[in-house]
Amino acid sequence: MTREEITDIFIKTGAMLTGHFRLTSGKHSNRYFQCAQVLQHPHYTGMLCAELARRFAGKGVETVVGPAMGGILVSYEVARALGVRSLFAEREQGKMALRRNFNITPGEKVLVVEDVITTGGSVAEVIEVVRSLGGEVVGVGVLVDRSNGQADLGVPAEALLTVTVETFEAENCPLCAAGTPAVKPGSRQT
Ligand SMILES: [Zn+2]
Repeated sequence: MTREEITDIFIKTGAMLTGHFRLTSGKHSNRYFQCAQVLQHPHYTGMLCAELARRFAGKGVETVVGPAMGGILVSYEVARALGVRSLFAEREQGKMALRRNFNITPGEKVLVVEDVITTGGSVAEVIEVVRSLGGEVVGVGVLVDRSNGQADLGVPAEALLTVTVETFEAENCPLCAAGTPAVKPGSRQT
């Protein structure tokens, strides 16, 4: 898939909005991401995850694991494309863990996936979980990297889309200065 085809899916499903948004932090921004909007469509999710899987073909991936919630569907569809197991990690008393008798055997080659990374914190925690069980993390695959290049996870990483989201303090917002009203993401005016 080309970058244009990938971008088109995010736009037409409403996962990537462009405009003038008022974030919960109070800041304003020119873009808003809600990956759940693309993940609600199995057809598009399957296409995107197959593309992500393709980028790790030949790496000997035996298991895919992602952090709940966003990583679950991505893990499942990437694993389907690779023909391997899909696991998910979740928090147990605040700490990322594999529950439900999920296991990783020493030396197992594991691909860690996530829908969107901003700081990469959850993904870094999943990497630690895999390594603590003796697994070998062969890479990280994400649908969207909006870390502005800041997330360095120390393993080969692939993102279908790398997006810079500009944020502004409300009082210094050029979009406000241009006269358009800021809207709360998800409201129907957009
Ligand atoms: Zn503004």
